[in-house]
Amino acid sequence: MTHRILILGGTTEARQLAGKLAARADISVMLSLAGRTENPAAQGVPVRVGGFGGAGGLAAYLRQNKIDLLIDATHPYAAQISANAADAAHEAGVPIMAFRRPGWQRVEGDRWILVDTVAGAVKALGSVPRRVFLALGRQEVAAFEAAPRHHYLIRSVDPVEPRLAVPDAAYLLARGPFHEVDERALLESRGIEVVVSKNSGGEATYGKIAAARALGVEVVMIRRPALPDVTSAGTIESLAAMVDHFLVGHVLGPAAERGV
Ligand code: NAP
Repeated sequence: MTHRILILGGTTEARQLAGKLAARADISVMLSLAGRTENPAAQGVPVRVGGFGGAGGLAAYLRQNKIDLLIDATHPYAAQISANAADAAHEAGVPIMAFRRPGWQRVEGDRWILVDTVAGAVKALGSVPRRVFLALGRQEVAAFEAAPRHHYLIRSVDPVEPRLAVPDAAYLLARGPFHEVDERALLESRGIEVVVSKNSGGEATYGKIAAARALGVEVVMIRRPALPDVTSAGTIESLAAMVDHFLVGHVLGPAAERGV
């Protein structure tokens, strides 16, 4: 019996989980990407790209492709797709599990200013011109045009197009992971006074947070959005174990037998 699993991805962990599950003969995996990144990292498993057309579209996909289990392994700030996933799973009667990467915790020496939104981060920079490192997605940086007095260093995977309508911005193209030692060198060489970051969690992008702490640099930390409350795990290993458990006790049988 082959179990069909759809993984909503766009994260390192989704790729790792997909690889782990795809290695099993009794599982057929499809990994879904939004298509935001121009040259996504090789995923090593079958991939589909692009939106589904809301929760209804995702529910239809689950039914049409006889998906037995939906796994939401998207980024913690991808709140829309996570909400859609929970709704679609409910609508299609398909079990759902989520990978919920734990957030970073503030430790001694951290100079964090917590804000709820990107707009809140723009305000938190204040009225005095500062040298700011924006480690955000390219969709979010446009909001900083509202504060053109600051100098911005903007790092993104794909070029920020159009460029920000501010007098003083520099651009860096890079894909993580980013190590503390390199982040420290970057913050120092660019004279960065404040870092704006999401609380993404995980190791791959923590380097800038550790570097900021070591240098006494402030971090404007955008709080996480609320996500739906579904069965979840905080590590790939525990999520894979939950999948195992689910497959062993797959009392409903695969979707084909449920007549969906
Ligand atoms: P979002 O705001 O939650 O989702 C917006 C729309 O994009 C969704 O309604 C859906 O379109 C489509 N979508 C998102 N993830 C998808 C997926 N894995 N497969 C197919 N369609 C998807 O998402 P976002 O914040 O723009 O993030 C987009 C992707 O980038 C996600 O896969 C996420 O894991 C990854 N990512 C996001 C961040 C971040 O900071 N937000 C950081 C790193 C990686 P339809 O409604 O048409 O289905």
